[in-house]
Amino acid sequence: METGGIFHRVGYVARKTLMFQVELPSGVLGTFTPGQYAYLEWKDPPLTDVKGNGRNFSIVSPPRELPLLSFATRLTGSAFKKCLEEIPDGAPILFSGPMGEFCLPEFPATTRQLSWRKPIVFVAGGIGITPFRSMLLEALPQNEAISFFLFTTNHDLEDSAFRNEFEELSRTHKNFFFDQLVSQASTLLPRGVEVGHLTPSRLFETIGEKAKDGLFYIAGPPSMVSSFKTALMSAGVLEERIKTDPFLGYF
Ligand SMILES: Cc1cc2nc3c(=O)[nH]c(=O)nc-3n(C[C@H](O)[C@H](O)[C@H](O)COP(=O)(O)OP(=O)(O)OC[C@H]3O[C@@H](n4cnc5c(N)ncnc54)[C@H](O)[C@@H]3O)c2cc1C
Repeated sequence: METGGIFHRVGYVARKTLMFQVELPSGVLGTFTPGQYAYLEWKDPPLTDVKGNGRNFSIVSPPRELPLLSFATRLTGSAFKKCLEEIPDGAPILFSGPMGEFCLPEFPATTRQLSWRKPIVFVAGGIGITPFRSMLLEALPQNEAISFFLFTTNHDLEDSAFRNEFEELSRTHKNFFFDQLVSQASTLLPRGVEVGHLTPSRLFETIGEKAKDGLFYIAGPPSMVSSFKTALMSAGVLEERIKTDPFLGYF
């Protein structure tokens, strides 16, 4: 579906990481499935470059917030993103979507509380966190018997988008575990954050025996996504249990 929307800037959710919203005409988009993405394109932007006026972005908000859809992105200085920083609030923006199948399985209503034993394991490289926020905000309150694990890797703690929100979710939902890794520490790290490299062993040590039944979701820069998928498969995870969302355009 293609439609015109209205752009709203929300604010920074990590270093050089902007959250923004697109307000769609009421009722035009009935719903979407968390994990899906959209293609957003400026109409007559004041700045352009060879990379074009449009980009794909994962939806970061849950469906209940429609007709508002939220997104988050790293500001890199491209013309598209300078417009995100500078264009007046209320500017028109084109929306195409929702698209993609990087989504959770349907949890049958009868198994919601009792017999779903597979842990859901999310692995986010940097800004790859975006689809997981939408999925968790939607799925956590409805699926208390399912275990959700979110592993994030960032360069530095300041780059970790929505970390306070996920920490709060892990305090309020016993079925949600949040593990944060950074590759360097420019300040003293708070409890629960470590310097290190994410490996399948770390996932399995954290999740325990249940890990072998898990469904694994990896999102972020394409090189990170493919190398972590390969590592999981080398560690014995079947390919059919791994879903990937490579954010083409990042390196
Ligand atoms: C499914 C999906 C979901 C994504 N979700 C997010 C998200 O939630 N947040 C986020 O920040 N990013 C996301 N991305 C990546 C996003 O679309 C951008 O590619 C990324 O943000 C980099 O954009 P940039 O303007 O900073 O970089 P730039 O390098 O300026 O632009 C990258 C874009 O330019 C295009 N491009 C590259 N070279 C050329 C060329 N020579 N000519 C024409 N076009 C070219 C690429 O296709 C890419 O879309 C997602 C990508 C995909 C595929």
